[in-house]
Amino acid sequence: MTMIGDKLQQVRTRIVTACTAAGRDPASVRLLAVSKTFDADAVRAAHAAGQRAFGENYVQEGVAKIEALADLREELEWHCIGPLQSNKTRVVAEHFDWVHSIDRLKIAQRLAEQRPAHLPPLSVCLQVNVDGGANKSGVAPEDALALAQAVAALPRLRLRGLMAIPEPAPDFESQRALFQRAAAVFEQIRGAGIEVDTLSLGMSADLEAAVAAGSTMVRIGTAIFGQR
Ligand SMILES: *Cc1c(COP(=O)(O)O)cnc(C)c1O
Repeated sequence: MTMIGDKLQQVRTRIVTACTAAGRDPASVRLLAVSKTFDADAVRAAHAAGQRAFGENYVQEGVAKIEALADLREELEWHCIGPLQSNKTRVVAEHFDWVHSIDRLKIAQRLAEQRPAHLPPLSVCLQVNVDGGANKSGVAPEDALALAQAVAALPRLRLRGLMAIPEPAPDFESQRALFQRAAAVFEQIRGAGIEVDTLSLGMSADLEAAVAAGSTMVRIGTAIFGQR
């Protein structure tokens, strides 16, 4: 098995162990392989080891990889997980399957207008700022429900849920508490009758705490591809 194949297997084992500890079904947590800064061959190796969903932060870099891997396009699912500026929405709407980083209505409206008619609806998550840091991306938790209602009403998009990137915390319990703030907003949106199925929480260093808090999709880069 390749090195990337071994690493992928280790991450899958971590997910299963975290689910068992949390009393959850391991099938309820998807693995998103974050391939930013790694080349198309690394993605190809991960695909050969069974991985299908890949996350990219930088739009240009992601599109270059999507094009380099056009032969695998039908089998791969591409997620845009980085901050998204207005001038990049068209290329994202034309190339990606998911966007995790919607933090204002204007970006969602542009994606809805620009999503080509021949493609399925773009799956989107709202990014929530659970730390309250003023200069961090993400909608404030108290504004998330209103944004979810507005985004859910747009054509050509499918609102899937929430994403959050809390600051690293010193221990498992405090990390889990930060993730639980995102989980609480997720439950509030569900409680309002909006059908969402995705809570995108957890990275290489904190996937166990994220799974304990209810994550349904962990975004893992370093533990699969190595240090950037
Ligand atoms: C880079 C990145 C990840 C992956 O982080 P690792 O610590 O390498 O696992 C996940 N989510 C986002 C939004 C990222 O930018």
